[in-house]
Amino acid sequence: MKDLNDTIDSPIEGEYTRRDFLTNAGKGILAATVLSSIASCTADAQEGGSKSPTDKDIHANSVTKPIELKPLEDKSEKPQEPLPAPLEPGKRVGFALVGLGNLTLAELLPAFGACQYAKVTALVSGNPEKAKKVAKQYGVPEKSIYSYQNFDNIKNNPDVQVVYIVLPNSMHEEFTIRSAKAGKHVLCEKPMSINSQSAQRMIEACEQAGKKLMIAYRIQYEPNNKKAKEWTRSEKMGKVKVIDAANNQNQGDPGQWRLKKALAGGGSLPDIGIYCLNTIRYLLGEEPVQVTGTIYSTPNDPRFKEVEETVLFQLQFPSGVLANCTTSYGVHDAQWYRCYADKGGYFGLDPAFSYQGLQIDGAQVQDGLDLKLKSSAGEKNQFALEIDHMAQCVLQDKKPFTPGEEGLQDHLIMEAIYESARTGKPVKLKKIDKQDAFRGTSPDDLKIA
Ligand code: NAD
Repeated sequence: MKDLNDTIDSPIEGEYTRRDFLTNAGKGILAATVLSSIASCTADAQEGGSKSPTDKDIHANSVTKPIELKPLEDKSEKPQEPLPAPLEPGKRVGFALVGLGNLTLAELLPAFGACQYAKVTALVSGNPEKAKKVAKQYGVPEKSIYSYQNFDNIKNNPDVQVVYIVLPNSMHEEFTIRSAKAGKHVLCEKPMSINSQSAQRMIEACEQAGKKLMIAYRIQYEPNNKKAKEWTRSEKMGKVKVIDAANNQNQGDPGQWRLKKALAGGGSLPDIGIYCLNTIRYLLGEEPVQVTGTIYSTPNDPRFKEVEETVLFQLQFPSGVLANCTTSYGVHDAQWYRCYADKGGYFGLDPAFSYQGLQIDGAQVQDGLDLKLKSSAGEKNQFALEIDHMAQCVLQDKKPFTPGEEGLQDHLIMEAIYESARTGKPVKLKKIDKQDAFRGTSPDDLKIA
C-alpha cells in the first residue's frame, strides 16, 4: 500500500509548524492566566463576599468575541481556528465536584484550566484533609468544602450552579437526586447508574426540579470522533456497513470498587464496553433493534467473583449496519474502532477512547490504488469540552447534547446484552426511527459568536 498521509484534510503527521508552535505557546500562557485569575476571583469572593451573578446576568454578559490576529499562513493551508474567547471568571458557571478520586484529581480539576465558560467553586469529599489540600491548590474557599453528609447545604451556595458527580456508579443516583433537590443542575459520570430503573429515577428527579441532567460522554465532544461521525453520516467512503470496536484493559487490584457488583453494577461492559456502544450509536445516530451477547469470566480469578471479565456483543441497526464489539477486564489495553464502507474504504480511530493522542486512520481505493490515509482534527482537552458544553447549556438554557435519556438508552441496551448472554438468544429492542433520538442541543449550535 502506498502512503497518502492525510489526502483528506489535515497537516502531515509529525510536522511541527511555526503556527503549531505559536498556538501551543499561546495555550500555555492562556491556561496559566486563566488558572491564576480563577484563583484570585474565588479568593476575592471569599474575602469581600462579592455578589454572585444570577443566571440572567451571566446570560446577558456571556457574548464574548475572540481576539483577532492576522493570519500567519497562506490560503492553501488549513484555516486557523479562532483564538479562544474565555468568559471572565466572574461570569463563568460554578461547578462543585463530588468525589476526589483518580478522575477528578488527574483529569477534571486540571481540565478546568482549559475551560472557557466553567470554573470550580466547591468540592465534596469524604476526606476533609484531602479536600482542604485540593481546595487550596485550585483556589476553592474552605467554606465551599462539603462532606457527603452535609452536602445538602450546597443549596445555600450561590457560587454553585452545577454538581459534577464523580463517584462509584451506585452513588450516582443518590447524589443526582440530592443535587436536584438542592436546586442544582447535574453533570454525571458514565455509566449513568447501575441499571435502567435507577437511570429513569434520576431523569425524573431532575425534571421535577426543573434542572438539567447531562451524562459525561466525553467522546461525543471530541473532535476526531466527531470527524468520524461526519464521515460516517456523509458516506465519505460509501455507506458504512460493518463496525468493529474494542475497549479492553487488565484490571489490577481485586479489592477495587469496580469489581464489586453493588458499587459498579457490572464489570467490563458498563465501565469500558459502554464506550464501544455509546460511540457506535453516536457515529450512526441510530438505535439498535437487536443485540446478542456472550460473557466469559476466568474461573477462580479473584477479580471476577462478582462482575464479568469479558463481553463480546453484536448490535444490529435498522439501516442494516452490524457492529461487533469486544470488552474485557482481563487482557492488555486496546481502545479502537474501525468502520468498513462499501466504496472501497475503511476508517477508524486507534486509540479511540483514550484521553490523548486520538487520530483517524484508514485506507481508500483511488484510481485502482489502495491508499493509506491519516487525518487529525486536532488535540483538544475532551473533559474541558464536555464541561464547557454543560456550562454553555446552563448559560443559554439548552438541553445538553448527552442528556439523561442518552445514559438511560445505554442501560437498556446493556441490559439486553446481559439477557442475551444469559439466555443464549438474540434480544430484540424497540425500533426507534428518529435520528439522534435521545440527544439534545448540538455543541455546534451553542458556539458563542
Ligand atoms: P476512584 O475510585 O478513583 O474515585 C472514587 C471516589 O469516590 C473517591 O474519591 C472515593 O473516596 C469516593 N467514594 C465515596 N464512597 C466510596 C465507596 N463506597 N467506595 C469507593 N469509593 C468511594 O474512581 P474514578 O476512576 O474517579 O471513577 C469515578 C466515576 O468516574 C465512575 O463512575 C467512573 O465510571 C467514572 N470515570 C469516567 C471516566 C471518563 O473517561 N469519563 C474515567 C474514569 C472514571
